[in-house]
Formats: sequence, C-alpha cells, structure tokens
Amino acid sequence: MSRQEPISDQFYNSETNEPFSHCIVCSTNLLSDETEYFIEKIIRRVKQFDVTEIIFEYAMCLECATSFRSEMSVESLKNVEAYFQSKLKQRNPIDLTKPSIDSCLLTGKPLSEASEYSYHVHCKGTNMIHSVFPYAISDLAMDEIAELLSKETTDELDDFKSKYFNGPPEIAELINPKRLLPL
Ligand SMILES: [Zn+2]
Repeated sequence: MSRQEPISDQFYNSETNEPFSHCIVCSTNLLSDETEYFIEKIIRRVKQFDVTEIIFEYAMCLECATSFRSEMSVESLKNVEAYFQSKLKQRNPIDLTKPSIDSCLLTGKPLSEASEYSYHVHCKGTNMIHSVFPYAISDLAMDEIAELLSKETTDELDDFKSKYFNGPPEIAELINPKRLLPL
C-alpha cells in the first residue's frame, strides 16, 4: 500500500487555508472517508517582485477526473503519455522515497528558475498519497506538453477554464488553457 500522510498545508485551498473540501465539478465532499481526488495548483513567478502567486487551483474527484480525461482526444492523451514515459525514463531512477517538489518531475528544472509551474497531488480524504505524486511540472515541460495537444483537446480545456475559473479577468488572461490538462 502507498504511504499516506496528512495533506501538507502548501496544498490547501489558499482562500480558506484549509484542505480543499469539494470537487470543482460535481461538488462532492472530498474529506469524507475514502474519497480519492486530485489537487492541481498553477503558480506563476512575478519576476519583477520575486514573488509567486497562485493563478488557478482546484480539487477534482477521481470520477470527474476520469470523465474529464475521457473527453480529451485519444491522440492527445497517447502523445502526452508517451512524453511522460520517455522523460521519466531519461530521469531514471527517481527516488520515490524522497520525492522532490522543488524541481520538475519531467525535466528536473528547479522550480526556482521556472516562471510558471504546477503542483499535482493525489489525495484520499484528509491524506495525500505518496507515489509518483505529489509532483511538480515546470514551464519547460508544460510548453512541450502543449505542443502535443490536438485542437479538439485544446478546445475542451478552454471550455473547462471558462466554466470553472471565476477569478478576475486579468488573471484569466494569464491562464493558458493548455496548462489545465489533467496530468
Ligand atoms: Zn467530482
């Protein structure tokens, strides 16, 4: 069985400073018992001030994540999977006993050098599950992944963004929908 530990506060909902409690899509309660879900946070670095800000964050239950993925084109998902496999192979062996969220899982780029990056966390109730998760993806890998997406997939992601992002328009402008691919 995978190691589990309480969700670290850096993966909390930044508005409430508490663990995410509901799925962004179906609103199911995530903190009850055995519910599995994923957290994604997209963060950008404002170089000018040397600070980072969260531009989009959410939690999505396993069922919704599965159905979201099924809406992506098979071709896109296949390409992205192949990209993951080849990158992970190049970086082998990754020591999963000491997972690092300070650098990109796929390219090894330190997040301190990335202008944008995302966190991906797999949770069950109030715990996070350690496997390849939690991990971070840098702007470098995000850009390479964006190249692999079909028009159809990009449109799906764009719809997702307009439906679920409810922050200010100036932040909405900063969000590249291609970076919302569930990874
Ligand atoms: Zn859901």
